[in-house]
Amino acid sequence: MSHASLSFEIFPPNTHVGEEKLLGTLEQLGDLAPDFISVTCSNNKRNIEETTLKVAGYVKNHLQIPTIAHLPACYLSKQQVTAILTQLEQLGIKQVLALRGDIDPQIPPTKDFSYASDLVAYIKEAAPHFEISRACYPEVHPESKSHVADVLHLKEKVARGCDQLISQLFFDNEVFYRFLEICQLANIQAPVLAGIMPIVNRKQALRIIQTADAKLPKKFLAILDKYEHNPVALRDAGLAYAVDQIVDLITQDVAGIHLYTMNNAATARQIYQATASLFHKTPVLDQVLG
Ligand code: FAD
Repeated sequence: MSHASLSFEIFPPNTHVGEEKLLGTLEQLGDLAPDFISVTCSNNKRNIEETTLKVAGYVKNHLQIPTIAHLPACYLSKQQVTAILTQLEQLGIKQVLALRGDIDPQIPPTKDFSYASDLVAYIKEAAPHFEISRACYPEVHPESKSHVADVLHLKEKVARGCDQLISQLFFDNEVFYRFLEICQLANIQAPVLAGIMPIVNRKQALRIIQTADAKLPKKFLAILDKYEHNPVALRDAGLAYAVDQIVDLITQDVAGIHLYTMNNAATARQIYQATASLFHKTPVLDQVLG
């Protein structure tokens, strides 16, 4: 039986100071030998060559860790995608996460690609050897007309070319299991990595409460409520909650865990320390983690 994979998501920082900090973060994440590190295109979507690709190149060539570059279809032109694919090849990167991209009212979309699937069709034509990951939403994409429409789009999405799906974050594992069942019923066959975001501070907790399309279970809300003004306890409880989710998911044989690290290496390392044997990783890290 194959073991669950472990991967991390990081984002390119906005500032020079942030860039220097990220190098330290990446070194620490690299010690954990993840299966891959994915690099978002959250900031400056028009110039991902200088952000996403630069960081992905560092992960691949300096840390020697496989990396996935996020590509936001609706902010890219065909010409730009061709140039990006060439640059990725030069960096030795052959994996992308093809996305439509978050709609940002400040940035008008380009006209070449409306949906992530349009980008995938283009990549399949221009560079068929690239491995393509795609996003999925256990709690339904917020713009979908209905649950059924969402599943049909997902089926179409996978049929158009998809080596694996990476899920939106969720806090209720039952929701994820139901989603996997629906995928099975609909004969959607790609492996699905479970997206987990450990909540470790109040700012992050408030943002999740205000913006999340994810169901927030009672147990989770109680933690946020009780430890709102106790940062150390909130961090400990948030980590324990994420570890609990991961233990359950791996026990239920999920394909992999994709940790939304928020560029916080300490959190990723603590979670790793608590779960390494479940991923069948030898704790090489006993020395590293102390
Ligand atoms: P699509 O698959 O294009 O779907 C978008 C919507 O359109 C869905 O409601 C879908 O059901 C519907 N749809 C799809 N095809 C059709 C069709 N042919 N006709 C009608 N409707 C259709 N955003 C960023 O900006 N940067 C990132 O780095 C980033 N990383 C992410 C990583 C993960 C793992 C996830 C889950 C999301 C990420 N996002 C990121 C957010 C993502 O870009 C948004 O959720 C976006 O709104 C949808 O992207 P998608 O690729 O799922 O879009």
